[in-house]
Amino acid sequence: MREFLNPQAAALQQGGIRAMFDRMAGREGLISLAVGEPDFGTHPDIVEAGCRALRDGFTHYTPNAGYLDLREAIVETMRPQGLSYDPGSEVIVTVGAMGALAQLFWVLLSPGDEVIVQEPVWVNYYTMISYPGGVPVPVRTTDDNGFRLRAADIEARITPRTKVLLLNNPGNPTGAYLKREELQEIAELAQKHDLLVISDEVYGLLLYDGNQPASIASFPGMKERTVVINGFSKAYAMTGWRIGYALGPVAILRKMVLLQENVISCVAAATQKAAAYALSRPDIVQGMVTVYEEKRNLLLEGLSRIEGVRCTRPGGAFYLFPDISSICPDSKAFCFDLLDRAAVACIPGVSFGDAGEGHIRMSYANSKENLTAAAERLQEYVRRFRRA
Ligand code: PLP
Repeated sequence: MREFLNPQAAALQQGGIRAMFDRMAGREGLISLAVGEPDFGTHPDIVEAGCRALRDGFTHYTPNAGYLDLREAIVETMRPQGLSYDPGSEVIVTVGAMGALAQLFWVLLSPGDEVIVQEPVWVNYYTMISYPGGVPVPVRTTDDNGFRLRAADIEARITPRTKVLLLNNPGNPTGAYLKREELQEIAELAQKHDLLVISDEVYGLLLYDGNQPASIASFPGMKERTVVINGFSKAYAMTGWRIGYALGPVAILRKMVLLQENVISCVAAATQKAAAYALSRPDIVQGMVTVYEEKRNLLLEGLSRIEGVRCTRPGGAFYLFPDISSICPDSKAFCFDLLDRAAVACIPGVSFGDAGEGHIRMSYANSKENLTAAAERLQEYVRRFRRA
């Protein structure tokens, strides 16, 4: 029989994160710092808003771009940064931030178009960029600069084929958060080289040490060349509801809506109603942010006691990305061995691109007891098996 799959599908492979989950399956006494989602369940009031919507008959298709009241509420979230969007034409509600990103790349990229991406990186971007024929161009970030992207490093990778600059701020897997001055320089670069910026802000409310939300779209001359991606999964602990959104220039958003009309129609009606309610409750997010910050500090403190582990202090998200290279330069071998001997699961840094090698990703979206125990197990593991 001939090959029915197209080359893009044939090239699809399981990511490093999933491979780790397969290895973890069925183990007892395991502490998993591997998952990239909140340990909180969705707040009961948000759940109730979703249930109420179902009972009230919101069981039908919705407008392709999403309910207007939700789009209006989304637009309001950008106003404190001085950004105003038209809810009728500059917003789309999507199946998670992933739905927004995938559809965005499909409408933007032609074969050979280059997309600059910070590394270490959430590697799903690479598949989403490659599928329509785009070429991801990694820009390496390092511990020395707290994994924050530098404008000069971006500029060095710009070619005549560069179309898009993708930012993820704060970033997965490092939690790095770019300061306003750093964003300003990147904004100037985007204008100088006529690039479109995609700003993935799914962790944008999970900020610590007094950091304030700052979208690159809010800098002069940037709104018209930026598509902001966001969602409810991380900040509102709604991963399973599958809802996200994009805000951006009408010409791009219009095509995303047309694509969505043809491929998925719309996001589930009750999910949209629950999300609209969630936006009316910033107190729910604030409560979780306070706890995440305590947990970040707890795990940082635990790691600081371990010889050979070096960790920068991330400004956002819910990940630490410690350097373990002086213990073992091969992050995959390290994580597999740590799992087998100490029953702690972390994600090998190399799963986030070559720039992540020598590191591990630890999610602190877990109980304080587990975080304390995980740090102790790691310390004991290093002492017994690596420092003998
Ligand atoms: N963007 C980044 C950087 C992520 O880490 C994730 C999920 O891990 C997503 C987007 C996807 O979010 P959603 O659940 O809204 O599709």
